Amino acid sequence: MSDINKDVHKPDLLGGRLCLDFANTVSWHDSSEKSQELLTSYEKLINWSLHANILKEQQSLSLLKKAESQPAKAKEVLQQAVELRESIYQIFSLVSNNETPVSKDLSILNEALGNAYGTMRVVPGKNKFSLELLNCEETLDGMLSPIVQSAIEILISEKELSRVKKCEGAPCGWLFLDTSRNRSRRWCSMADCGNRAKAKRFYHNKK
Ligand SMILES: [Zn+2]
Repeated sequence: MSDINKDVHKPDLLGGRLCLDFANTVSWHDSSEKSQELLTSYEKLINWSLHANILKEQQSLSLLKKAESQPAKAKEVLQQAVELRESIYQIFSLVSNNETPVSKDLSILNEALGNAYGTMRVVPGKNKFSLELLNCEETLDGMLSPIVQSAIEILISEKELSRVKKCEGAPCGWLFLDTSRNRSRRWCSMADCGNRAKAKRFYHNKK
């Protein structure tokens, strides 16, 4: 399968954290009519994971090959990934609005937690230790572990949690971590929602 990068919609990775980029794998996430699912097949999940640097090309190819021989399991993993993504989206949407996440979504994240950390090991690095994903090409859902880890890391960090925001270009709905010094970031992307807001304001003022 050499066409792994062919025909792939690659959403910009603007969230600033892996779990937020994963939450943004729906276009117009806050709209019931306009929203568009990007993870429509297991292959697309793999392609996104490659795009987001969770998987290396060789690992992606191994997983795709494995999925071909276990189509039912691959479909199940896709459903599981989408369910997890929606929970992550709901949790951080509420957090961005200073509200408490609902327990159903936290339960789904907690369920994924045991599995996620079971596939990781602490390894010594240069100035600190790091978590390394073990043989993620062994199981079809291997790419979910770092996403879960990323979500947990924001949730347990007061500093990061307070910086989770939702794009003001409603109903874009994309989430991001505002790392600007004065916490002034308002849009997922200045080039996209930011410009649209500016154009709208210009039109409004002219009227
Ligand atoms: Zn936006």
